[in-house]
Amino acid sequence: MSGMRLRFPPSPTGRIHIGNMRTALFNWLWARKNKGTLVLRIEDTDLERSTKEFEDIILKELEWLGLDVDEGVGVGGEYGPYRQSERIEIYREYADRLLDEGKAYYCFCSPEELDKMREEAAGRGEMPRYNRKCRDLPREKAEELIREGKNPVIRFKTPIEDREIIVNDLIRGKVSINTDVLDDFVIFKSDGMPTYNFAVVIDDALMKITQVIRGEDHLSNTPKQILIYEALGFDIPEFAHLPLILDENKAKLKKRSDSDAVYIGEYREKGYLPEALFNFLALLGWSAKDDQEIMTREEIISQFDISDINKSSAVFDIEKLNWMNGKYIREADLDRIVSISIPYLEKAGYISGDLSDEEYKWLRRVIEVIRNKVDYLSQIPEEAELFFRELEYENRDEAIEEFRGENVELVFKSLKEKLAALEEFNPETINEIFKEMRKELPVKPRTIFHPTRVALTGMNSGPDLNHVIYILGIEETERRLDEALKLTHT
Ligand code: GLU
Repeated sequence: MSGMRLRFPPSPTGRIHIGNMRTALFNWLWARKNKGTLVLRIEDTDLERSTKEFEDIILKELEWLGLDVDEGVGVGGEYGPYRQSERIEIYREYADRLLDEGKAYYCFCSPEELDKMREEAAGRGEMPRYNRKCRDLPREKAEELIREGKNPVIRFKTPIEDREIIVNDLIRGKVSINTDVLDDFVIFKSDGMPTYNFAVVIDDALMKITQVIRGEDHLSNTPKQILIYEALGFDIPEFAHLPLILDENKAKLKKRSDSDAVYIGEYREKGYLPEALFNFLALLGWSAKDDQEIMTREEIISQFDISDINKSSAVFDIEKLNWMNGKYIREADLDRIVSISIPYLEKAGYISGDLSDEEYKWLRRVIEVIRNKVDYLSQIPEEAELFFRELEYENRDEAIEEFRGENVELVFKSLKEKLAALEEFNPETINEIFKEMRKELPVKPRTIFHPTRVALTGMNSGPDLNHVIYILGIEETERRLDEALKLTHT
């Protein structure tokens, strides 16, 4: 292991979003590339919104995508505990140190007073912020108020004199922020919990994190965090802020309606493969030198470089994900695809209980064919529906008309004979039959294919006929062809 230490610190306040997973993935890739250590910390100081259930979901989704961590929740390590709710005393200790050194202060202003301050500042055309009323309140006075039962917050003393804080971002280069836009921000809330900006610094410092890679939405927090690092004399890690992920309309990717899928779990549930999402997420903000798109994990790890990440936002292109996923589905081990597809077919009521060997073999054929038609596996039942029901003509009169066509009987007879004579029964050999028929029979290709399709599927369009026959089997194919011919005599 190299000395590089990275972290992924999700808040368990919801299911894990595409954006968070991309952040986790980039940390993971950079850690693997550099033989570094990836730490998983759970940031659960928002007690009302954090749940164990969401924490479990996060762990499960990371595992599903194959992002193993080296240290932290679920793994352990020497810098624990790794759940922020178990570290409150540690944060308090450092807050006390800042209070003792005059670098932080108690503030007793009520929410109403704070609102008024904001309004007044806005009235003067200034940035709404805290007016530092309690900044010079003597410590003894503050402690007296606490003894009387008041619950203050603790604020950080942001330097009053103007100062440029430079963030040396690994992606963006130098980003400079003037302290005059910063407030005396709260580091401990009146409920006794630290704020994000405070806890994250203490943890990153004590867990010896060397590089902080996170979303661009945190860039405005970084100067505040740098001030805390400085005030406590901690080494400042390097920072990299990842570009935002936008939707097709160039708006921030978020759930606007139930049909928008923004959580990783939603993609898993729809039947996207983890390796496809892994590949797709890696290309959200990063690209390989030769613009290669389909890449294995190993290829991505070996090519990935944090300094190659784009500064501009990445666009979440669902068409591209679908294309990629379809490609992975077609190339994956067939039995694996069958096993992922079975729950969808069960849910659709097409199969139930344990399958016999025969049934499994048949299902495997169906999926072998249908997987060419889908972008994700929950589409399997819809595409395969035809094979799970009795034959039904979409339009009976039109079908009969079709079967009465010239030479149709000849086509059906020839097909039956050739099928019966086949030595090996598979989509390729069946395809050969159709090729021969086109050569041998005195009919147009349409007369071969269309009546056969209607006879076998009842429909005007659908999967390739060689595949349909492969799934139906010879007996059922013959039965359906005979059935069609019978109809011509009614
Ligand atoms: N818990 C924070 C979040 O999920 C972590 C941000 C950070 O990486 O510092 O947004």
